[in-house]
Amino acid sequence: MSDKTLFQRIIDKEIPADIVYEDDQCLAFRDISPQAPTHVLVIPKKPIVSVATIADEDQALIGHIYLVIRNIANELGLGNGYRVVANCGADGGQSVDHLHFHILGGRQLKWPPG
Ligand code: AMP
Repeated sequence: MSDKTLFQRIIDKEIPADIVYEDDQCLAFRDISPQAPTHVLVIPKKPIVSVATIADEDQALIGHIYLVIRNIANELGLGNGYRVVANCGADGGQSVDHLHFHILGGRQLKWPPG
């Protein structure tokens, strides 16, 4: 049994994903259980567990991911707005222990979240 996370297995192309963007630092793919008409996950290829374990040296990587998020949102036609979410830890509802940013759009999103 592999001790890799699900997202590490997607990075390694061991399991398929609907990839919308990839470069040397990150990967973006459609969420398998979309919560909005557009629901994409953006993950670093570096195995960072969560926002809580981002290192100071990851500053440029996280900035890069946000520029990728901006570009993906533009390319997928989310000009009317969207939400970027990073669930962190048990109380945050994180279910995969590899840092990921949800891009949610294509409908009016409610606030506050549950
Ligand atoms: P979180 O609950 O914030 O940890 O988000 C994990 C997300 O991964 C959920 O929205 C799941 O629907 C999504 N997910 C789980 N398995 C897969 C998969 N094989 N491909 C794409 N997304 C997945």
